[in-house]
Amino acid sequence: MPRRYHIRTFGCQMNEHDSGRAAGVLESLGYRATSSPEDADLVLLNTCAVRENADNKLYGTLGHLKSTKDARQAAGQDLTIVVGGCLAQKDGVTVAERAPWVDVVYGTHNLPALPALLAEADSAELPVVELIEQLETFPSALPAKREVRHHAWVSISVGCDNSCTFCIVPRLRGGERSRRPGEIIHEIRQLVEDGVVEVTLLGQNVNSYGRDLFGASRFAELLRELGAIDGLERVRFTSPHPRDFTEEVLEAMAETPNVMPHLHLPLQSGSDRILRLMRRSYRRRRYLRLVERTRQLLPDAALSTDIIVGFPGETEADFEATLEVVDAVRFDQAFTFQYSPRPGTPAAALVEAFVPPEVVAERYGRLEPMVRAHSLARHQALVGTAQELLIESPSKSDVRRWSARTRGNHLVHLPAAPDTPGEPPAYAPGDLVVAEVLEAATNYALAAAPEQVRHTAAGRATARAMAAGDGWRTATVTPGVGAARPLPIVATPAG
Ligand code: SF4
Repeated sequence: MPRRYHIRTFGCQMNEHDSGRAAGVLESLGYRATSSPEDADLVLLNTCAVRENADNKLYGTLGHLKSTKDARQAAGQDLTIVVGGCLAQKDGVTVAERAPWVDVVYGTHNLPALPALLAEADSAELPVVELIEQLETFPSALPAKREVRHHAWVSISVGCDNSCTFCIVPRLRGGERSRRPGEIIHEIRQLVEDGVVEVTLLGQNVNSYGRDLFGASRFAELLRELGAIDGLERVRFTSPHPRDFTEEVLEAMAETPNVMPHLHLPLQSGSDRILRLMRRSYRRRRYLRLVERTRQLLPDAALSTDIIVGFPGETEADFEATLEVVDAVRFDQAFTFQYSPRPGTPAAALVEAFVPPEVVAERYGRLEPMVRAHSLARHQALVGTAQELLIESPSKSDVRRWSARTRGNHLVHLPAAPDTPGEPPAYAPGDLVVAEVLEAATNYALAAAPEQVRHTAAGRATARAMAAGDGWRTATVTPGVGAARPLPIVATPAG
């Protein structure tokens, strides 16, 4: 019986991507996936360090896994517990000290070492802990497992050269390292040959892509090159930084049909004083001009954002400034957060300036209804229009519906294709359809049955799998790209 593994991913898309690589590595070692940790011979926790309660989540989960491990050992089996990702990179040996029943701890830079660490753990008495300070090989050199046939995450860079005072990412993921454009194009061409119709380009700061390689961003050029790949229907990217959003990038988006008209533009605060304290290196006027220019060049663009309420030192006037920007932009979607100090970040040390939780909650209570009203209005503007939708999956809340995304990344549910046992459904996840939007809610819309259906290779393969009773998901493992060529060691700035 092949050994079974279960991966639990915390945090951002970059972690989703890395978990896909970890799954690819484990499958290449002969493991097979299981959806239940209780049935697993190996459980891998890919951790996040962004939120304060991230620690509690990890050590709580490890406490639970201890009893699972004890029970399995009592039954003559075993359970290998692996902890990776940002919190492992931050805590390192502390993870093994607080949870000595863990077998392997690795960080954000050494996922490629997983096979060797597992081999070492097989005979080791103590947990095997290995962290390195700098990326040696891009995770994209590793095989990747995909759960869906039509979409793939493609990392184009790792790390971040910014130093936002509330953020721990640069400390845990290091400075920006861009992959060579040829490697990225090659990987995406392989994925498209494999049926992928949509890719999401990943980086902590995608729009400064290439600056470390070429001295200036090459993100606009990369987008244009992706525009030339036949069969690649949709290109998305996350996360950009407003400071690095150039006219060239906006023009490339406007002139490259398969680059989707959706921008995630993290605002964080509308107050210049707070933006200065956050070290966000843009100010509200520039942000608003960027939004205005975006809407001139990309009239259909959907905008989403991140906003922090209650950053240390935030006054009522600062918060009012945030409300003014939000009211001026009227985002399609806003991810809003009450500030939580992340130990190890400069802002976490501003204890004297912390805003009382009840004040933060009161302000948050004024922001939320505003962003929800804007989001509802943006979704209502879709009603009565015919939208091109990429079908993603069955709806999580209603089996009679499937979930899809507009070009603007709006979530739209439409009627599932009629089910005839043994017959491939008329349209399936991976297919592109055009459907009229009938109703709207705050964060999604409802559409009628498709007026047009454009089958894709991924959509047809999914339809055949569904007809055969194998469900809509896949377990495709694609080989890594970019031979495990060691990256040059870059001098980390002192201190
Ligand atoms: S841009 Fe700022 S918030 Fe984003 S990853 Fe870099 S330091 Fe963190």
